[in-house]
Amino acid sequence: MTQAIHKKAISGVLSLEAYTPGMPIEELQRKLGVAEAVKLSSNENPLGMSPIARKAVADAIMGTDLARYPDGSGFRLKKKLAEMHKIAADCITLGNGSNDIIELLGRVYLGPGRKAMFSAHAFAVYSIIAQSQDAEMIVVPARPMTDAMPLGHDLNAFAAKLAPDVSLIFIANPNNPTGTWLEPGEIEAFLNKVPADVIVALDEAYYEYMDPKLSGNSRALLDKFPNLVVFRTFSKAYGLAGLRAGYALSSPEMADLLNRVRQPFNNNSLALLAAEVAIEDQAHVAKSVELNTREVARLSKELKALGLTVLPTQANFIAIGFGRDAKPVHQGLLERGVIVRPVASYEMPEFLRVSIGTERENDRFLDALKDILKA
Ligand SMILES: *Cc1c(COP(=O)(O)O)cnc(C)c1O
Repeated sequence: MTQAIHKKAISGVLSLEAYTPGMPIEELQRKLGVAEAVKLSSNENPLGMSPIARKAVADAIMGTDLARYPDGSGFRLKKKLAEMHKIAADCITLGNGSNDIIELLGRVYLGPGRKAMFSAHAFAVYSIIAQSQDAEMIVVPARPMTDAMPLGHDLNAFAAKLAPDVSLIFIANPNNPTGTWLEPGEIEAFLNKVPADVIVALDEAYYEYMDPKLSGNSRALLDKFPNLVVFRTFSKAYGLAGLRAGYALSSPEMADLLNRVRQPFNNNSLALLAAEVAIEDQAHVAKSVELNTREVARLSKELKALGLTVLPTQANFIAIGFGRDAKPVHQGLLERGVIVRPVASYEMPEFLRVSIGTERENDRFLDALKDILKA
């Protein structure tokens, strides 16, 4: 039904579907009356945030400073990030989560008559931003299921679709919801084919979880390619998803453009503080990554033993293929108090995406799944 209020809305917005987040625990408990539900649907860190960051946030809440606006320049956090990445502070853009960075990129580089390029089965926020800016989208087919990296990005196919009206290319490494990744050399080879005025946005939300032999060195690529922007987040390995903090590294010229459309206080004071302190607690990150690596290996093995398809992953989740509509499995898991993520909206109706939890949470998932499959 078209109402008057729709008439002058951006046409891309009218055809947009809102992002469906993972179901909150309370919602499941309310709907199905399940007690002690386990949430493995939003790729959060099951160990939570660094205890040192938690204490800093608690102390800040008890102080008086929350009546003040945050530091809109994010001076202290940028200083920490600059040290960590050996980069100038004016190459850093802070975001209210890295989704905010994706939005800033869209506002600077996309609009009617421009094109955004990304892979099939890529993170949903790329298409949401492109569509909301009335930009066209080039969705590059993913690698086939028979490939060594099934459903992964095919950068040769990206290169074949380059055209003068493409302004922004999104690459997720690893990608969500597939978990697939690109070999370090593949990204550089692709950048060598991209014209200097086409922006390549490399989403490294799960960077910390990657095997260091596979994660590449995007920081070094930034020095070589001024059209590259790399973004990371504190939502995943750092466990700060509820606070919202992410950042981009780029040339100072690109950071300047992103900064022009950024809301002056896009990062709240607690997020800035928690991120700043969390960087210092690399032991917590290492512990989180270690748990993840161990549990990815264990779960993958168990799932394969059940005859299921398991996509290769370098992230904190596994995409599991059931060879049939995954909806009934999803429903069965919900009824057993386990929330996972259906990915039919990613054109993967036969898959479910399961975030890696603690050993106990993963056992809950496995037990529930075995129960469903034996029925
Ligand atoms: C989780 C995720 C992000 C980060 O989201 P935040 O806004 O930082 O919480 C970015 N990209 C991908 C691919 C993700 O899965």
